[in-house]
Amino acid sequence: MSYTNDATNAALEIKCAGCGAILHYAPGTGRLQCTYCGTENAIDSKPADGTRIDYNNFCHQYDGISVTDTKPQSVKCGTCGASSQLDAGITSDVCPFCATPLMLALAADSRLLRPHAVLPFQLAHKEAKDALTRWVGERWFAPGDLKATVTGQANRLRGCYYPHWLFDTDTTTRYKGERGDYYYTTETYTTVENGQQLTKTRQVRHTRWSSASGTVRNVFVNLLVSASATLDEELSQKLDPWDFPSLTAFDERFLSGFRSETFQVTHTKAFGTAKGYTEATILSAVQGDIGGDEQRVHSLDTRYFNTALAYVLLPVWMCTYKHGGKTYRVAVNARTGEVIGTRPYSAGKIFLFVLVLLALAAGIWYWASVWQNTSQTGY
Ligand SMILES: [Zn+2]
Ligand SMILES: [Zn+2]
Repeated sequence: MSYTNDATNAALEIKCAGCGAILHYAPGTGRLQCTYCGTENAIDSKPADGTRIDYNNFCHQYDGISVTDTKPQSVKCGTCGASSQLDAGITSDVCPFCATPLMLALAADSRLLRPHAVLPFQLAHKEAKDALTRWVGERWFAPGDLKATVTGQANRLRGCYYPHWLFDTDTTTRYKGERGDYYYTTETYTTVENGQQLTKTRQVRHTRWSSASGTVRNVFVNLLVSASATLDEELSQKLDPWDFPSLTAFDERFLSGFRSETFQVTHTKAFGTAKGYTEATILSAVQGDIGGDEQRVHSLDTRYFNTALAYVLLPVWMCTYKHGGKTYRVAVNARTGEVIGTRPYSAGKIFLFVLVLLALAAGIWYWASVWQNTSQTGY
């Protein structure tokens, strides 16, 4: 089985019982809503925090899982009848002509792995717009027209569920290194003061190094790695933290009216990235275990076990805007309202600021010298 075009919205029970229109998921409500007649349907969602799949079993089951199998899909809008193309890896979106939700069925196919959990949209479009407007208003050294440019694009904020892998893992690390302990000796030295040679003493610090080895254990939960081709890992990390205790068992209906992507980064590649995120914690655990005043670490051998994963969708309002011929991107965490974005700087404003700083420094220097002269002349 694979993606089918007749995603049968009816089968997903997202048709309005009142008027037959396709229902949208209404952020923050846990309900589907009809934009035409106002009918609402609650989604009987179940909590999913703690839903984790054993990593080794998962690897075994999805051995050779490929991200290249997804193809663009043509979908016919049930409301206006227009056909539109969903890019490869896109599993839901809205009709570009009438904004009716378009959804593909996530078949029980390894290539189109059904997410284990989702954080449903909490911020509605208007709240995301407000967060964006506040954000641009708080930027320092922004070009004068930036606020107008960004707020002008705020209506084009697009709600998207981005795929992520979430890992829990335990580690044991065997290490070899050296422990450095400080000790002090008294040293005699000669110096010249006021033309006289003097003999003085001083304390000198030394480090005594001794070899050290041992094993440390660490526990990691909720190591997050982006599985999206369009939400890069750096931006994903900046959008963290997420309220993972609110993770909800996956239900297609939360996707209705939003764009969603299937994973483009495999779980094995993502686990490699997640291992990287454990390194700093492991190193500091090793340094703590070695003790002493300084540590040298020569080798680390880490084993990962009890590894478990969850494939989750996280909600982001995304907006791109152009300024001075460049494209910038702003993302709003649709759970917390945190805004992360790139923006242009005004060279003119920065130049002025530097001028003001220089003027202040010159002023301080001038008054300091006047004060010094005054006190020297005895007034
Ligand atoms: Zn209706
Ligand atoms: Zn349509």
